[in-house]
Amino acid sequence: MTSLSDLPLRANLVGKLPYGAPQDPVPVSLNVNENTHPIPDEVVADIVASLAAAVRSVNRYPDRDFLELRESLAHYLGHGLTAEQLWAANGSNEVLQQVLQAFGGPGRSLLSFTPTYSMYPLLASGTDTAWIDVPRPADYALTAAGVTAALREHAPDIAILCGPNNPTGTPLDREVIVAAYDAFDGILIVDEAYHEFDAERESAVTLLPGRPRLLVSRTMSKAFAFAGVRLGYLAADPAIIDALRLVRLPYHLSALTQAAALAALRHSGAMLRAVDDIRAERDRLGVALTELGYTVHESGSNFLLVGGFTDPEATFAALRAQGILIRNLSVPGHLRITAGTAAETSAVIDAIAALGPGGAAA
Ligand SMILES: *Cc1c(COP(=O)(O)O)cnc(C)c1O
Repeated sequence: MTSLSDLPLRANLVGKLPYGAPQDPVPVSLNVNENTHPIPDEVVADIVASLAAAVRSVNRYPDRDFLELRESLAHYLGHGLTAEQLWAANGSNEVLQQVLQAFGGPGRSLLSFTPTYSMYPLLASGTDTAWIDVPRPADYALTAAGVTAALREHAPDIAILCGPNNPTGTPLDREVIVAAYDAFDGILIVDEAYHEFDAERESAVTLLPGRPRLLVSRTMSKAFAFAGVRLGYLAADPAIIDALRLVRLPYHLSALTQAAALAALRHSGAMLRAVDDIRAERDRLGVALTELGYTVHESGSNFLLVGGFTDPEATFAALRAQGILIRNLSVPGHLRITAGTAAETSAVIDAIAALGPGGAAA
C-alpha cells in the first residue's frame, strides 16, 4: 500500500487534513452543533410516507432543478422571495463549494474573518482558491470599519461573513453586511447556518433587493434538526443561481432528499419547536459556566464558546472519557459546547463543575 505522501496529490492539498470532528457513539454528543432533540413523530410519519411515494419513481432521474423544493424554501424564507432566487445542494457545504467553483479558482481569493467556520479554508483549497484570513477583534464582533478596511486592502473575489459566527457564536450586525457589500466588488456570502436561533435579528435575505452580489446561505442541519438528510440552500439574485447551474453535477439532489426536505418544510413550525428550549438551555449553560469562573462569549446560536480552560485538550479528554463530546477548535484556552436537551446540558455542566479550577482533571 502507498501512503498519501507517495501520491501525486495537487500541490495545494499536500499536508492538509480532512475535516475531522470526532464521531464517537457517546451518550452526550455536543460537538457539532446539531439539534439534539428528536424530530416530532407526526413529521416522521409524513416524511416516511413521502419517501415511500418517491421511491416508486426512483427508476427515473430526479427533477434536476428541484423546482417544487425551491418554491417551498422561498416560501419558508418569506420576504417575497421566489423559486428562481433559491438554490439548494447536499448541505450548505456543497452550496458553498459550488459558489467557490463558480466564482473562485486559481488566481482568485476567498476572505473571511477568523476564528470562523473551519470548512471555509478547506473549501478554498479544494477549489484552488487562495485563502485570506483576517483576525477578528478580541471580542470577535465584526465592525463596519474593520470589515471595510480589510475588504479594501485585500479586494478578494469572494468574502464570507458568518452570522452568528461559528465557533464564537457572535451575532452579525446588519450594518456590517451593508458596509462589506459596498467595500469591494466581489461576491459576498452571508452564512446564516444558525439564523433560526437568532431570529429576532432580521435575516440578510432582506438585503437582497438591489444587491446582485449578495448570497445568503442557510441550512436545514442545525435548528431544523435535519443534519442527516444533507440539505443546505442559498438565496440570491437569479443570475447567481444560473452561475451555480454551470458547476453543479446533474441531478445532484436525489429524489429522496427532495421528498424528505419538502415533507419537513410542510411542518416547519413543528420542526423548529425545540428552538426556544435550546436557547434556554444555552443560556442556562452560560450562567452555570460563568458562575464556575469561565468566560462565556455572547452567542446568537445553539452553542457557546467558553474560555478560561488551562488545558482545553485535557478537559476535552476528561469529558470524552465520561461519554460527553464537546469541541476543541484550537482557540487558545477555549472549548465550544453545543446546547442540548436539559439532561445533556446538565450532564456537561455537572462534569465541568466536577473538574478542578480551569477544567483541570480533579
Ligand atoms: C454547520 C454549519 C454549516 C452547515 O453545513 P451543512 O453542510 O449544511 O450541514 C454551514 N456553515 C456553518 C458556519 C456551520 O456551522
